[in-house]
Amino acid sequence: MNEFEIIEHYFKLPLINQKEVKLGIGDDAAVISLSQDKELVVSIDTLVEGVHFLKGLSPKDVANKSLLVNLSDIAAMGATPRWITLSLTLPENNSVWLEGFSKQFNKLLKNYSLALIGGDLTKGPLSITIQAHGIIPKGKFLQRSGAKPGDYIYVTGELGAAAYALRYLKNTDDNLKPTNDELEKLNKPEPKIQTGLELRDIATSCIDISDGLFTDLSHILNCSKVGADVKLNDIPYSKTLLKLDKDLAIDLALTGGDDYELCFTAPSNLSKSDLEKKITTSKFFKVGRINQLDSKLNLIGDDKKIYKLKSVGYQHF
Ligand SMILES: [Mg+2]
Repeated sequence: MNEFEIIEHYFKLPLINQKEVKLGIGDDAAVISLSQDKELVVSIDTLVEGVHFLKGLSPKDVANKSLLVNLSDIAAMGATPRWITLSLTLPENNSVWLEGFSKQFNKLLKNYSLALIGGDLTKGPLSITIQAHGIIPKGKFLQRSGAKPGDYIYVTGELGAAAYALRYLKNTDDNLKPTNDELEKLNKPEPKIQTGLELRDIATSCIDISDGLFTDLSHILNCSKVGADVKLNDIPYSKTLLKLDKDLAIDLALTGGDDYELCFTAPSNLSKSDLEKKITTSKFFKVGRINQLDSKLNLIGDDKKIYKLKSVGYQHF
C-alpha cells in the first residue's frame, strides 16, 4: 500500500456526531465550523532529515522549509494562516543550531503575522512537525473536489525548479548549475497565500503541488471523479529544465515535487483577461482541460499522442 492507501484503509473512519467538521481527511487541510460566519482550517506536516531535506541543511533553511510548506497547504484552501504549533525532535541540545533555526523561524512568524501557540520538544533524529491553523469566511474554502468537465486546469508558476536543484545537489554528474532562484525554491518555497484568497470565487478545485503535478492533479481528479488531458507543451518548465533532455525535464516538472505552486481548475467561460483581473498576485498558466473520462490523467505529447511518464511521483512507501 502507498501512503494514500494506508490512510484510506486504516484511518479514514466515518465522522460520528461531528457536525462542526465541514471537511475531514483527504484534502490539503480539514475545515471546522467556528461560528456563524467563520471556519477554521487545520493542516499538519512532518519533515524528517534525510527524507524531506538533505542531511546538513542549514538550520535557517530547515526553518524556512518546515514552516513554508505548511503554509502552502493553508494557501491551497484559500484561507489566511493565523496560528501554528511546533513539535521539534532534536538529536542534541545544540545552541548554534537552535539559534539559527529560531531566528529565522521567528522572522517568518512576524512576516506572515503568525502566532506560535504551543508545541513539544523531544530528543531523537531531527524532525519538525508543524500544525498550521487558518481562518476563512464560512463556506468559502477551496477543495480538491469540484472540478467539472470542461473546466480548464491552471498552475501558478514554473514547475521542476526544486526537483532539479535537489537532483543537482545529490548528483555530482549534473554539470548544469541551477539558477539561484531554482536553488532557493528548494528550501524556501513561497506559499501562495494571497493567490489562494483570490481564487476563492474563481476556482472550482485547488491543491498545492507538493508531490509533483501528476500526483497532485490526480488527487483533484479522484476527488472530483473526472479525468483530464494535460498538454506537455503548455507546461511552464523551470528555466534550466529547458536545457535538459526532454524526457528528464518532463519527469522533473511532473513528478519531481516540492514546487509548492497551486494547481486549480476554473470554468472555461472565464477568459484570460477575466482571470487576470482576479488573480493579481501570481502568474498563471493553462495546462489542460478536465474531461469526463474516469479519473484518468492523459498527458498529450508533441505528436498529440499519449505520453507515458518514465517515473512516478514521490512515494513514501
Ligand atoms: Mg498539500
